[in-house]
Order: sequence, then C-alpha cells, then structure tokens
Amino acid sequence: MPVQHHYEAYITRTNGPLVLVRIRDLTELRRAEELRADFVANASHELRTPLAAVTGFIDTLRGHAKDDGPARERFLEIMSVEAGRMRRLIEDLLSLTRIELNEHNPPAGEVDVASVVRDAAAVLAPLADEDRISIQIDPCESLKVVGDRDELTQVFQNLIHNAIKYGRSGGEVRIRFGRAEAPSKREGGGQVLVSVQDEGEGIPREAIPRLTERFYRVDVKRSRERGGTGLGLAIVKHILNRHKGRLQIESVPGEGSTFTVSLPAVQTTAEPSV
Ligand code: ADP
Repeated sequence: MPVQHHYEAYITRTNGPLVLVRIRDLTELRRAEELRADFVANASHELRTPLAAVTGFIDTLRGHAKDDGPARERFLEIMSVEAGRMRRLIEDLLSLTRIELNEHNPPAGEVDVASVVRDAAAVLAPLADEDRISIQIDPCESLKVVGDRDELTQVFQNLIHNAIKYGRSGGEVRIRFGRAEAPSKREGGGQVLVSVQDEGEGIPREAIPRLTERFYRVDVKRSRERGGTGLGLAIVKHILNRHKGRLQIESVPGEGSTFTVSLPAVQTTAEPSV
C-alpha cells in the first residue's frame, strides 16, 4: 500500500556556485496532528450521542409527557443513564490526558502489586455479584514493583472490570501472579506478571492488536450496554508505557480471554560487588 510522506524543503543560495537544500521530514508530525484531530472528532461524536438523548427527553418532558407520571419516571431514568455515560467519558478523557502528559516521567514509588490487585477486585465485587461472577485471586505474598499506586490500581480495575463486563454471567474471573527472572542480575530484578482471565465470549484474533486504540470496540453496542467508553485499554497501555511494563492479550473465541500485565520487579538483592 502506498504511504504518504510529507517533506519541507528550504533552498538557500550561497555566495558561490552552490545552492543549499535543507529537507525536513514532517511525516511523523503530520501523523500526530491527524491522530489528534481524529481523537477530538471521536470524542465529540461520543459525547454528542448521549447529549442528544438528554436534550430530546427534556423536550419530551416539557411537551406531551408533561402530565404523564410513569412516562416521566421512565424518561428521567434514561436521562440519568445517559448523563452517567457522559460523566464516565469525561473522566476517562481527563485520565488519559493526565497520564499522557506524565508518560515520560517515570514513577518513583514502590508498590505491592498483589495488594493493589486485591483492592481493585474488592471495589468491583458488587458489579461481579450482579452478574453472579466470582473473582478468584490466587494466593500471593507481596510482589514489589516500582510504580504509582493510583495508576496501577486503575490498570487492574480496568482489566478486572472488562473481565466482568465481557465475562460469562455465572462464571469465574481468575487472577494469577507470577515472576519471570531476568537473564542476569545486571538486567534488574526480572518481571512481575499478573494475569486476569475470564470465561467470556473471547475476542476475534484480528481485533486483538487494535484493542488498546482509543475508542476501538469489537462490538460498540455491547460496550455501550455494559457502560463502556472504549478508552479503558488505551488508559492501561499508557500507564504501562510509563511503568515500562507490557500488556499481552490471548483469547480463544467462545472460551475466554487472558490479559497479562508484566512490570519490572524491584530488585531485592544487593548488587554483587565487583
Ligand atoms: P470499553 O469501555 O468498550 O470496555 P476498553 O478499552 O476497556 O473499552 O476495551 C475495548 C474493547 O475491547 C471492548 O469494547 C471489547 O470489545 C474488548 N474487550 C476488552 N476486554 C475484553 C474481555 N475481557 N473480553 C472480551 N472483549 C474484551
């Protein structure tokens, strides 16, 4: 497929017989501008839909539903759901912007990932109960990483929330911990691994590489019904970039999905003396 490139050329005459040509490749810059413009267009579109619903119901409530008590209750309920959707979208957009601005500033704190995961799961327990999903967390001692506790909490809340949203009602969400040792001491303390596995419908193979794009959803209607914004995994990706971590996604359609986070572990043993 042809790829468009953008260049800027400055041509300067020198005193002698030569001409000075300076060429700047603007392709990356243009691409970033296009991505930003697309993002603003998408965000506006996402907000416009619930806003149109709320405005429409205000008109209806002022008009023919004015004296219809049951209809009024129904419409107010829908308006409240739509307002909730706008609130979640704005919160996610603000989170994403804040994280992006901070992305090149590495975190400094020391965090026990196992306790972050347990806290994130506890917050989501009522939602899991609604779908009769049981969250099983494998036992684990402390697993220390260098990180920002609030941001890592958001990573695991988003992943566990997705496992509930797209999991099997009446099924299980299982969280496992592990470690991958570094090939040598020089390369740090290895990696801490946390995987979140659900028994949901799974993800088509071709969609997997796109899941962390902003607003990408396999099934927009289903995501909306489940209160999704399409930004959760984009937020996860940016937080993990800041933490020099990674996200790996595996899925078997019809059987479920596993999202595995790896984060650099805190080096526990002292550097060997030379
Ligand atoms: P959303 O708010 O739509 O859930 P996310 O960025 O968190 O947005 O996820 C993007 C999309 O990835 C979802 O809309 C869904 O299609 C898919 N997805 C995420 N997690 C899972 C999962 N555990 N099982 C199946 N599909 C998932």
